[in-house]
Amino acid sequence: MVRALRLVLLTVLLFTVFASGQTKTSSVPQASFSTSQTSPTQPFDIRAAVDAYLAKMPPARRAQSDAYFEGGYWLQLWDFLSIVIVMWLMLRFHWSARMRNLAEGLTRFRPVQTALYWIQFFIVASVLTFPLGIYEGYFREHKYGLLNQTFGPWMRDQLVALMVGIVLGTILIVPLFGVVRRLGKSWWVWGAGLMVAFLMFLSLIEPVYLAPLFNKYKKLEDARIRDPILSMARANGIPATDVYEFDASRQSNRVSANVSGFANTQRISLNDNLLNRCTLPEIEPVMGHEMGHYVLNHEYKGLVEMGVVIVIGFAFLNWGINLALARWGQAWNIRGIADVAVLPLAVIGFSVFLFVMTPVTNTITRTMEYEADMFSLNVSRQPDGKANVDLMLGEYRKLDPGPIEEFIFYDHPSGRTRITAAMRWKAEHPESTNADEMARPMFNAK
Ligand SMILES: [Zn+2]
Repeated sequence: MVRALRLVLLTVLLFTVFASGQTKTSSVPQASFSTSQTSPTQPFDIRAAVDAYLAKMPPARRAQSDAYFEGGYWLQLWDFLSIVIVMWLMLRFHWSARMRNLAEGLTRFRPVQTALYWIQFFIVASVLTFPLGIYEGYFREHKYGLLNQTFGPWMRDQLVALMVGIVLGTILIVPLFGVVRRLGKSWWVWGAGLMVAFLMFLSLIEPVYLAPLFNKYKKLEDARIRDPILSMARANGIPATDVYEFDASRQSNRVSANVSGFANTQRISLNDNLLNRCTLPEIEPVMGHEMGHYVLNHEYKGLVEMGVVIVIGFAFLNWGINLALARWGQAWNIRGIADVAVLPLAVIGFSVFLFVMTPVTNTITRTMEYEADMFSLNVSRQPDGKANVDLMLGEYRKLDPGPIEEFIFYDHPSGRTRITAAMRWKAEHPESTNADEMARPMFNAK
């Protein structure tokens, strides 16, 4: 339901907050390794080890996961087009201008007018993009067996997200239009700064105020899991006294964990699916990965990198909006760039920009994910457990894409890339071999 804005605000947010991943120059998805590359004392065929892991996923399961993920490529296009069409309707049929007029009729106070416009805009945009949203987020997820929710709880989450979008959008849009009104031509520089500050604010409040709206978080009590994780944290200079777990099984069976928060709200959380479906040698590398995000300061680096993307985006927006308004401004009944009714045009511009920049933003996150994987292998020393978890992520992410496909579409490295990294590490650390993990079947007939 909030999808209209998700592309514009939350995409950027998600990229930074849940910093995703990498491959950079050598994702080596298809590269073949010969044994000569491994240490002479320990012949170990990395490529064969990777293929053995990939073969653990039954072909039918693999085909399903590929179809799900490849369908996602098209969905990105349909999402983009649906937003552009909805925004264009708002301009072409003067809905945007009417929402502005209504807001102006209710108060003479500019910031309140902006807020009143935003509420109308966001609800209309959410309703009009909802048909695609319900297909994408509900029916399609069920079709692939990736959603545990019935319609009621799912719809409840959508409505909560709608409310969150109204509140957070107001917090962003009101000062942003204030900046446009006061600073005129140079608005895009300061506006981008404001956007980055807003992302920091979102990061800060996310674990404390937003995440609990959708899932229950509690401190992980199971000492058998918690103690090794905290030991790993202490060893790497992470001042953590608690690890959090949350009930992701409410929504799906997907295994995951994340680092969230900013400054003093930063924390590591793992989901209950990970706890229920994985062994300790699999949980450790996942937590090592999240600690990597923390120790390598990915949140701050991500913010800087996305900040650069946003500045470029706003410069493009400034140019594009003025160009479009010179041509269609009167027809759409929009007074200028400082008129809040211009918002649908801004959303079109920013959506086009983000759509084109997808490989760039994906590479920013994918790069950090790959770094976190390296960190994980070094601290957890569980390459076999890591390979098993990477395989599990293949339930919803195509395991073995081509290199260009991975570069364009992957915000995390593919299963093959990640397992290759794990086996490469194992080749240099033969003592880390875990026969139980190697033999463990990861996919029951289901
Ligand atoms: Zn990560």
